[in-house]
Amino acid sequence: MTSLSDEQWMRLALDQARLAADAGEVPVGAVVVQNGQVIATGRNAPIASHDPTAHAEVVALREAARVLGNYRLDGCTLYVTLEPCAMCSGAMLHARLDRVVFGAADPRTGVAGSVLNLFGHTQLNHQTQVTGGVLADACAQLLQDFFKPKRVNADPVREDALRTPDAAFAGLPDYPWPPRYVNDLPSIAGLRMHYLDEGPQDAPLTWLCLHGNPAWSYLYRKMIPVWLAAGHRVVAPDLIGFGKSDKPKKDRFHQFETHRQSLLDLLARLDVQRVVLVVQDWGGIVGLTLPMAAPARYKGLLVMNTTLATGEQPLSAGFLAWRDWCQSQPQFDVGKLFARGNPGMTPAETAAYNAPFPDKGFRAALRAFPPMVPAMADAPGAAISRQAQAFWQRDWQGQSLMAIGQQDPVLGEPVMRHLQSQIRGCPEPMLLPDAGHFVQEQGRAIAEAAVRHFKP
Ligand SMILES: [Zn+2]
Repeated sequence: MTSLSDEQWMRLALDQARLAADAGEVPVGAVVVQNGQVIATGRNAPIASHDPTAHAEVVALREAARVLGNYRLDGCTLYVTLEPCAMCSGAMLHARLDRVVFGAADPRTGVAGSVLNLFGHTQLNHQTQVTGGVLADACAQLLQDFFKPKRVNADPVREDALRTPDAAFAGLPDYPWPPRYVNDLPSIAGLRMHYLDEGPQDAPLTWLCLHGNPAWSYLYRKMIPVWLAAGHRVVAPDLIGFGKSDKPKKDRFHQFETHRQSLLDLLARLDVQRVVLVVQDWGGIVGLTLPMAAPARYKGLLVMNTTLATGEQPLSAGFLAWRDWCQSQPQFDVGKLFARGNPGMTPAETAAYNAPFPDKGFRAALRAFPPMVPAMADAPGAAISRQAQAFWQRDWQGQSLMAIGQQDPVLGEPVMRHLQSQIRGCPEPMLLPDAGHFVQEQGRAIAEAAVRHFKP
Protein backbone atom coordinates (compact mmCIF):
# COMPACT_ATOMS: atom_id res chain seq x y z
CA MET A 1 0.00 0.00 0.00
CA THR A 2 1.46 3.32 -1.04
CA SER A 3 1.38 6.03 1.55
CA LEU A 4 1.62 9.72 1.08
CA SER A 5 4.38 11.37 3.01
CA ASP A 6 3.69 13.16 6.29
CA GLU A 7 3.86 16.49 4.47
CA GLN A 8 1.18 15.51 2.04
CA TRP A 9 -1.18 14.42 4.80
CA MET A 10 -0.39 17.61 6.65
CA ARG A 11 -1.51 19.60 3.60
CA LEU A 12 -4.93 18.03 3.97
CA ALA A 13 -4.96 19.06 7.64
CA LEU A 14 -4.04 22.59 6.52
CA ASP A 15 -7.06 22.59 4.21
CA GLN A 16 -9.21 21.87 7.24
CA ALA A 17 -7.51 24.69 9.16
CA ARG A 18 -8.32 27.12 6.36
CA LEU A 19 -11.96 26.07 6.48
CA ALA A 20 -11.93 26.81 10.21
CA ALA A 21 -10.51 30.28 9.53
CA ASP A 22 -13.19 30.91 6.91
CA ALA A 23 -15.76 30.09 9.56
CA GLY A 24 -14.18 32.54 11.99
CA GLU A 25 -12.65 29.85 14.19
CA VAL A 26 -8.99 29.69 15.19
CA PRO A 27 -7.47 27.85 12.21
CA VAL A 28 -6.47 24.41 13.37
CA GLY A 29 -7.22 21.35 11.22
CA ALA A 30 -6.72 17.61 11.53
CA VAL A 31 -7.06 14.41 9.53
CA VAL A 32 -6.98 10.78 10.70
CA VAL A 33 -5.25 8.35 8.36
CA GLN A 34 -5.45 4.58 8.41
CA ASN A 35 -3.90 2.24 5.89
CA GLY A 36 -2.93 5.11 3.60
CA GLN A 37 -6.44 6.58 3.56
CA VAL A 38 -8.04 9.54 5.24
CA ILE A 39 -10.87 8.14 7.31
CA ALA A 40 -11.84 11.34 9.13
CA THR A 41 -11.27 15.07 9.11
CA GLY A 42 -11.78 17.68 11.79
CA ARG A 43 -11.48 21.40 12.16
CA ASN A 44 -11.55 23.64 15.15
CA ALA A 45 -15.16 24.70 15.87
CA PRO A 46 -15.73 25.59 19.55
CA ILE A 47 -17.43 28.89 18.76
CA ALA A 48 -19.98 27.66 16.23
CA SER A 49 -20.74 24.44 18.11
CA HIS A 50 -20.80 26.06 21.58
CA ASP A 51 -18.45 23.30 22.61
CA PRO A 52 -15.15 23.90 24.41
CA THR A 53 -14.03 20.40 23.45
CA ALA A 54 -14.56 20.90 19.71
CA HIS A 55 -10.86 21.06 18.91
CA ALA A 56 -9.85 19.80 15.49
CA GLU A 57 -8.31 16.63 16.96
CA VAL A 58 -11.35 15.69 19.06
CA VAL A 59 -13.66 16.31 16.12
CA ALA A 60 -11.47 14.10 13.90
CA LEU A 61 -11.12 11.37 16.53
CA ARG A 62 -14.90 11.21 17.05
CA GLU A 63 -15.46 10.98 13.32
CA ALA A 64 -12.81 8.26 12.91
CA ALA A 65 -14.28 6.20 15.76
CA ARG A 66 -17.72 6.52 14.26
CA VAL A 67 -16.44 5.41 10.83
CA LEU A 68 -14.57 2.46 12.30
CA GLY A 69 -17.36 1.57 14.71
CA ASN A 70 -14.74 1.36 17.42
CA TYR A 71 -13.54 3.72 20.14
CA ARG A 72 -10.04 2.24 19.74
CA LEU A 73 -8.23 3.73 16.77
CA ASP A 74 -5.62 1.04 16.28
CA GLY A 75 -3.36 1.57 13.29
CA CYS A 76 -4.35 5.24 12.92
CA THR A 77 -2.22 8.36 12.60
CA LEU A 78 -3.60 11.82 13.38
CA TYR A 79 -2.19 14.82 11.55
CA VAL A 80 -2.88 18.17 13.13
CA THR A 81 -1.58 21.61 12.21
CA LEU A 82 -0.88 22.70 15.81
CA GLU A 83 0.73 20.86 18.71
CA PRO A 84 -2.13 19.22 20.64
CA CYS A 85 -3.32 20.43 24.04
CA ALA A 86 -3.72 18.26 27.14
CA MET A 87 -7.34 17.46 26.40
CA CYS A 88 -6.68 16.31 22.85
CA SER A 89 -3.52 14.42 23.81
CA GLY A 90 -5.48 12.64 26.52
CA ALA A 91 -8.15 11.71 24.01
CA MET A 92 -5.50 10.32 21.65
CA LEU A 93 -4.03 8.18 24.40
CA HIS A 94 -7.50 6.91 25.32
CA ALA A 95 -8.04 6.05 21.66
CA ARG A 96 -4.75 4.16 21.58
CA LEU A 97 -3.72 6.14 18.53
CA ASP A 98 -0.53 4.81 16.89
CA ARG A 99 0.97 8.14 16.01
CA VAL A 100 0.38 11.88 16.10
CA VAL A 101 2.06 14.26 13.67
CA PHE A 102 1.76 17.97 14.31
CA GLY A 103 2.83 21.10 12.46
CA ALA A 104 3.50 24.22 14.50
CA ALA A 105 4.59 24.00 18.14
CA ASP A 106 2.32 25.70 20.64
CA PRO A 107 4.44 27.18 23.43
CA ARG A 108 1.33 28.15 25.43
CA THR A 109 -0.80 25.01 25.55
CA GLY A 110 1.12 22.33 23.63
CA VAL A 111 1.77 19.14 25.61
CA ALA A 112 3.67 17.16 22.98
CA GLY A 113 6.95 18.70 24.11
CA SER A 114 6.36 22.43 24.52
CA VAL A 115 4.73 22.98 27.93
CA LEU A 116 5.23 19.36 28.84
CA ASN A 117 5.28 16.04 27.05
CA LEU A 118 2.26 13.93 27.87
CA PHE A 119 3.40 11.35 25.36
CA GLY A 120 6.72 10.79 27.07
CA HIS A 121 5.43 9.08 30.21
CA THR A 122 6.36 5.42 30.09
CA GLN A 123 4.08 4.82 33.09
CA LEU A 124 1.08 5.23 30.77
CA ASN A 125 -0.03 1.90 29.36
CA HIS A 126 -0.29 3.16 25.80
CA GLN A 127 2.48 4.85 23.90
CA THR A 128 1.64 7.16 20.99
CA GLN A 129 4.50 8.08 18.76
CA VAL A 130 5.00 11.82 18.20
CA THR A 131 6.44 13.71 15.23
CA GLY A 132 6.46 17.51 15.33
CA GLY A 133 7.37 20.34 12.99
CA VAL A 134 5.88 19.02 9.76
CA LEU A 135 5.10 22.04 7.54
CA ALA A 136 5.50 24.04 10.74
CA ASP A 137 5.93 27.39 8.97
CA ALA A 138 2.79 27.06 6.86
CA CYS A 139 0.79 25.94 9.90
CA ALA A 140 2.06 28.85 12.03
CA GLN A 141 1.56 31.38 9.25
CA LEU A 142 -2.11 30.51 9.02
CA LEU A 143 -2.51 31.23 12.73
CA GLN A 144 -0.53 34.47 12.51
CA ASP A 145 -2.61 35.69 9.59
CA PHE A 146 -5.75 34.90 11.53
CA PHE A 147 -4.73 36.88 14.60
CA LYS A 148 -3.29 39.80 12.66
CA PRO A 149 -5.69 42.78 12.73
CA LYS A 150 -8.19 42.20 9.97
CA ARG A 151 -7.33 45.48 8.29
CA VAL A 152 -5.45 48.60 9.19
CA ASN A 153 -7.84 51.31 10.35
CA ALA A 154 -7.62 53.94 7.62
CA ASP A 155 -9.71 56.34 9.62
CA PRO A 156 -8.31 56.51 13.14
CA VAL A 157 -9.69 58.91 15.73
CA ARG A 158 -7.25 61.67 16.60
CA GLU A 159 -5.84 61.33 20.10
CA ASP A 160 -7.32 64.64 21.19
CA ALA A 161 -10.80 63.75 19.97
CA LEU A 162 -13.67 61.31 20.45
CA ARG A 163 -15.96 59.72 17.90
CA THR A 164 -19.59 58.99 18.74
CA PRO A 165 -20.20 55.30 17.98
CA ASP A 166 -22.30 54.68 14.85
CA ALA A 167 -24.77 52.71 16.96
CA ALA A 168 -25.86 55.93 18.65
CA PHE A 169 -27.31 57.07 15.32
CA ALA A 170 -29.07 53.85 14.34
CA GLY A 171 -32.63 54.18 13.09
CA LEU A 172 -33.14 57.92 13.54
CA PRO A 173 -36.56 59.01 12.31
CA ASP A 174 -36.68 60.92 9.01
CA TYR A 175 -32.93 60.87 8.54
CA PRO A 176 -32.30 58.22 5.87
CA TRP A 177 -29.29 59.78 4.21
CA PRO A 178 -25.96 57.93 4.18
CA PRO A 179 -23.10 59.56 6.07
CA ARG A 180 -20.21 61.06 4.16
CA TYR A 181 -16.90 61.86 5.78
CA VAL A 182 -13.76 63.81 5.09
CA ASN A 183 -10.78 63.54 7.43
CA ASP A 184 -8.05 65.51 5.68
CA LEU A 185 -9.30 69.07 5.50
CA PRO A 186 -6.16 71.22 5.92
CA SER A 187 -7.47 73.30 8.84
CA ILE A 188 -8.56 70.27 10.87
CA ALA A 189 -6.34 67.50 9.50
CA GLY A 190 -7.09 64.14 11.08
CA LEU A 191 -10.46 65.16 12.44
CA ARG A 192 -13.32 63.49 10.65
CA MET A 193 -16.08 65.81 9.52
CA HIS A 194 -19.46 64.40 8.59
CA TYR A 195 -21.74 65.85 5.97
CA LEU A 196 -24.75 64.92 3.91
CA ASP A 197 -24.48 65.34 0.16
CA GLU A 198 -27.64 64.39 -1.69
CA GLY A 199 -29.03 65.16 -5.13
CA PRO A 200 -27.25 65.64 -8.45
CA GLN A 201 -23.81 67.27 -8.53
CA ASP A 202 -24.88 69.45 -11.45
CA ALA A 203 -28.18 70.53 -9.87
CA PRO A 204 -29.38 74.06 -10.66
CA LEU A 205 -29.17 74.92 -6.95
CA THR A 206 -27.20 73.51 -4.01
CA TRP A 207 -28.66 74.19 -0.58
CA LEU A 208 -25.81 74.47 1.88
CA CYS A 209 -27.39 73.91 5.30
CA LEU A 210 -25.42 75.08 8.33
CA HIS A 211 -26.61 74.21 11.82
CA GLY A 212 -25.73 75.85 15.11
CA ASN A 213 -25.25 74.92 18.73
CA PRO A 214 -26.31 72.38 20.02
CA ALA A 215 -27.84 70.99 16.81
CA TRP A 216 -26.54 68.98 13.89
CA SER A 217 -27.61 68.22 10.33
CA TYR A 218 -30.59 66.33 11.76
CA LEU A 219 -32.13 69.79 12.25
CA TYR A 220 -32.64 70.05 8.48
CA ARG A 221 -34.50 66.75 8.05
CA LYS A 222 -37.82 68.47 7.25
CA MET A 223 -36.34 70.81 4.65
CA ILE A 224 -33.95 68.49 2.81
CA PRO A 225 -36.69 66.32 1.19
CA VAL A 226 -38.39 69.40 -0.27
CA TRP A 227 -35.22 70.49 -2.03
CA LEU A 228 -34.35 66.98 -3.20
CA ALA A 229 -37.85 66.62 -4.64
CA ALA A 230 -37.22 69.81 -6.60
CA GLY A 231 -34.20 68.13 -8.20
CA HIS A 232 -31.68 70.17 -6.23
CA ARG A 233 -28.56 69.21 -4.32
CA VAL A 234 -28.27 69.47 -0.54
CA VAL A 235 -25.00 69.64 1.39
CA ALA A 236 -25.36 69.63 5.16
CA PRO A 237 -22.19 69.35 7.26
CA ASP A 238 -21.95 68.72 10.98
CA LEU A 239 -19.61 71.21 12.60
CA ILE A 240 -16.66 69.61 14.35
CA GLY A 241 -17.86 68.79 17.86
CA PHE A 242 -21.43 68.12 16.74
CA GLY A 243 -23.53 65.41 15.15
CA LYS A 244 -21.56 62.65 13.47
CA SER A 245 -18.38 64.72 13.24
CA ASP A 246 -15.43 64.06 15.57
CA LYS A 247 -15.53 65.72 18.96
CA PRO A 248 -12.34 67.32 20.29
CA LYS A 249 -11.94 66.62 23.99
CA LYS A 250 -10.80 70.11 24.98
CA ASP A 251 -13.10 73.13 25.02
CA ARG A 252 -10.24 75.29 23.80
CA PHE A 253 -10.12 73.51 20.45
CA HIS A 254 -13.22 75.45 19.51
CA GLN A 255 -12.25 78.76 17.94
CA PHE A 256 -14.29 80.95 15.62
CA GLU A 257 -11.59 80.95 13.00
CA THR A 258 -11.05 77.16 13.11
CA HIS A 259 -14.70 76.47 12.43
CA ARG A 260 -14.87 79.10 9.69
CA GLN A 261 -11.79 77.69 7.98
CA SER A 262 -12.98 74.10 8.28
CA LEU A 263 -16.18 75.04 6.43
CA LEU A 264 -14.24 76.95 3.76
CA ASP A 265 -12.02 73.88 3.33
CA LEU A 266 -15.04 71.62 2.95
CA LEU A 267 -16.70 73.88 0.38
CA ALA A 268 -13.47 74.05 -1.61
CA ARG A 269 -13.13 70.27 -1.43
CA LEU A 270 -16.70 69.70 -2.62
CA ASP A 271 -16.40 72.62 -5.05
CA VAL A 272 -20.03 73.53 -4.50
CA GLN A 273 -21.54 75.95 -7.03
CA ARG A 274 -24.88 77.76 -7.40
CA VAL A 275 -25.22 77.69 -3.62
CA VAL A 276 -28.09 78.93 -1.55
CA LEU A 277 -26.56 79.41 1.89
CA VAL A 278 -29.03 78.24 4.55
CA VAL A 279 -28.16 79.39 8.05
CA GLN A 280 -29.51 79.59 11.59
CA ASP A 281 -27.85 80.21 14.96
CA TRP A 282 -24.08 79.51 14.74
CA GLY A 283 -24.72 78.37 11.17
CA GLY A 284 -25.11 82.09 10.51
CA ILE A 285 -22.68 83.50 13.05
CA VAL A 286 -19.92 81.64 11.21
CA GLY A 287 -21.73 80.92 7.94
CA LEU A 288 -22.49 84.54 7.06
CA THR A 289 -18.74 85.16 6.94
CA LEU A 290 -18.22 82.54 4.22
CA PRO A 291 -19.62 83.97 0.94
CA MET A 292 -17.26 86.96 0.83
CA ALA A 293 -14.40 84.47 0.56
CA ALA A 294 -15.78 83.07 -2.72
CA PRO A 295 -18.79 85.15 -3.83
CA ALA A 296 -19.04 83.42 -7.21
CA ARG A 297 -20.18 80.20 -5.52
CA TYR A 298 -23.34 81.77 -4.10
CA LYS A 299 -26.72 82.52 -5.65
CA GLY A 300 -28.82 83.00 -2.58
CA LEU A 301 -29.17 83.35 1.18
CA LEU A 302 -31.90 81.76 3.28
CA VAL A 303 -31.42 83.14 6.75
CA MET A 304 -33.26 82.06 9.90
CA ASN A 305 -32.82 83.13 13.52
CA THR A 306 -29.17 84.10 13.73
CA THR A 307 -26.95 87.16 13.91
CA LEU A 308 -23.70 88.67 12.77
CA ALA A 309 -21.77 89.20 15.99
CA THR A 310 -19.55 92.13 15.14
CA GLY A 311 -18.84 93.03 18.74
CA GLU A 312 -20.07 96.57 18.17
CA GLN A 313 -23.45 96.23 19.83
CA PRO A 314 -23.97 94.53 23.17
CA LEU A 315 -25.30 90.99 22.89
CA SER A 316 -29.03 90.73 23.47
CA ALA A 317 -30.41 90.08 26.94
CA GLY A 318 -31.90 86.86 25.60
CA PHE A 319 -28.52 85.66 24.40
CA LEU A 320 -26.80 86.55 27.66
CA ALA A 321 -29.46 84.61 29.56
CA TRP A 322 -28.85 81.60 27.30
CA ARG A 323 -25.10 81.86 27.79
CA ASP A 324 -25.50 81.99 31.58
CA TRP A 325 -27.93 79.09 31.54
CA CYS A 326 -25.50 76.92 29.56
CA GLN A 327 -22.77 77.68 32.06
CA SER A 328 -24.97 76.85 35.04
CA GLN A 329 -26.35 73.67 33.41
CA PRO A 330 -23.29 72.08 31.81
CA GLN A 331 -25.09 68.73 31.60
CA PHE A 332 -28.33 70.10 30.17
CA ASP A 333 -30.48 67.67 28.21
CA VAL A 334 -30.04 68.68 24.57
CA GLY A 335 -33.10 66.83 23.33
CA LYS A 336 -35.34 68.40 25.98
CA LEU A 337 -34.14 71.83 24.91
CA PHE A 338 -35.42 71.14 21.40
CA ALA A 339 -38.63 69.56 22.62
CA ARG A 340 -39.42 72.54 24.84
CA GLY A 341 -39.92 74.83 21.85
CA ASN A 342 -41.35 72.08 19.66
CA PRO A 343 -44.00 70.18 21.62
CA GLY A 344 -44.86 68.08 18.56
CA MET A 345 -41.51 66.34 18.59
CA THR A 346 -41.63 62.58 19.23
CA PRO A 347 -39.42 60.93 21.87
CA ALA A 348 -37.35 59.41 19.06
CA GLU A 349 -36.76 62.84 17.53
CA THR A 350 -35.83 64.23 20.93
CA ALA A 351 -33.38 61.37 21.40
CA ALA A 352 -31.82 62.11 18.01
CA TYR A 353 -30.62 65.45 19.31
CA ASN A 354 -28.95 63.74 22.27
CA ALA A 355 -27.43 61.01 20.09
CA PRO A 356 -24.14 62.83 19.35
CA PHE A 357 -23.32 63.21 23.06
CA PRO A 358 -23.22 59.84 24.85
CA ASP A 359 -21.48 61.37 27.88
CA LYS A 360 -19.94 64.60 29.06
CA GLY A 361 -16.60 63.85 27.42
CA PHE A 362 -18.28 64.49 24.09
CA ARG A 363 -19.72 67.87 25.11
CA ALA A 364 -16.78 70.26 24.72
CA ALA A 365 -18.48 72.12 21.85
CA LEU A 366 -21.65 72.59 23.90
CA ARG A 367 -19.58 74.30 26.59
CA ALA A 368 -17.36 76.27 24.23
CA PHE A 369 -19.82 77.73 21.75
CA PRO A 370 -21.94 80.14 23.84
CA PRO A 371 -18.92 82.10 25.19
CA MET A 372 -17.39 82.10 21.70
CA VAL A 373 -19.99 84.51 20.26
CA PRO A 374 -17.96 87.71 19.77
CA ALA A 375 -19.08 90.12 22.48
CA MET A 376 -16.43 92.83 22.06
CA ALA A 377 -15.04 94.58 19.02
CA ASP A 378 -11.66 92.92 19.52
CA ALA A 379 -13.00 89.42 20.29
CA PRO A 380 -11.92 86.60 17.97
CA GLY A 381 -14.33 86.55 15.03
CA ALA A 382 -15.54 90.13 15.49
CA ALA A 383 -13.34 91.68 12.81
CA ILE A 384 -14.22 89.04 10.22
CA SER A 385 -17.90 89.51 11.12
CA ARG A 386 -17.59 93.27 10.44
CA GLN A 387 -16.06 92.48 7.05
CA ALA A 388 -18.98 90.19 6.39
CA GLN A 389 -21.42 92.90 7.41
CA ALA A 390 -19.88 95.22 4.85
CA PHE A 391 -20.10 92.45 2.23
CA TRP A 392 -23.80 91.85 2.82
CA GLN A 393 -24.59 95.57 2.82
CA ARG A 394 -22.55 96.62 -0.19
CA ASP A 395 -21.46 93.68 -2.30
CA TRP A 396 -24.10 90.98 -2.05
CA GLN A 397 -25.51 90.28 -5.51
CA GLY A 398 -27.66 87.25 -4.77
CA GLN A 399 -31.28 86.74 -3.79
CA SER A 400 -32.20 86.63 -0.13
CA LEU A 401 -35.02 85.23 1.96
CA MET A 402 -35.43 85.63 5.70
CA ALA A 403 -37.65 83.46 7.93
CA ILE A 404 -38.14 84.37 11.57
CA GLY A 405 -39.33 82.09 14.35
CA GLN A 406 -41.10 84.64 16.50
CA GLN A 407 -41.09 82.63 19.72
CA ASP A 408 -37.29 82.78 19.96
CA PRO A 409 -36.16 84.74 23.05
CA VAL A 410 -32.50 84.62 21.97
CA LEU A 411 -32.26 85.50 18.29
CA GLY A 412 -35.86 86.48 17.57
CA GLU A 413 -37.54 89.21 15.58
CA PRO A 414 -35.73 92.32 16.92
CA VAL A 415 -32.29 90.78 16.24
CA MET A 416 -33.42 89.54 12.85
CA ARG A 417 -34.96 92.87 11.80
CA HIS A 418 -31.61 94.46 12.48
CA LEU A 419 -29.88 91.81 10.38
CA GLN A 420 -32.40 92.29 7.57
CA SER A 421 -31.41 95.95 7.36
CA GLN A 422 -27.82 94.83 6.79
CA ILE A 423 -28.52 92.46 3.88
CA ARG A 424 -28.71 94.16 0.53
CA GLY A 425 -32.04 93.51 -1.17
CA CYS A 426 -33.48 91.32 1.60
CA PRO A 427 -37.27 91.39 1.24
CA GLU A 428 -39.86 91.48 4.01
CA PRO A 429 -39.27 88.38 6.18
CA MET A 430 -41.47 85.33 6.33
CA LEU A 431 -42.83 85.26 9.89
CA LEU A 432 -43.53 82.02 11.74
CA PRO A 433 -45.55 82.95 14.82
CA ASP A 434 -45.33 79.50 16.41
CA ALA A 435 -41.71 78.73 15.62
CA GLY A 436 -39.01 79.12 18.23
CA HIS A 437 -35.27 79.37 17.93
CA PHE A 438 -34.92 76.11 16.00
CA VAL A 439 -36.98 77.37 13.10
CA GLN A 440 -36.09 74.36 10.96
CA GLU A 441 -38.41 72.20 13.05
CA GLN A 442 -41.16 74.04 11.12
CA GLY A 443 -38.96 74.11 8.06
CA ARG A 444 -41.13 72.35 5.47
CA ALA A 445 -43.14 75.50 4.70
CA ILE A 446 -39.96 77.57 4.61
CA ALA A 447 -38.28 75.13 2.24
CA GLU A 448 -41.31 75.17 -0.05
CA ALA A 449 -41.38 78.98 -0.05
CA ALA A 450 -37.67 78.99 -0.77
CA VAL A 451 -38.07 76.73 -3.82
CA ARG A 452 -40.55 79.25 -5.19
CA HIS A 453 -38.38 82.23 -4.21
CA PHE A 454 -34.95 81.25 -5.47
CA LYS A 455 -34.77 81.10 -9.23
CA PRO A 456 -31.86 79.02 -10.54
ZN1 LIG B 1 -6.84 20.41 21.86
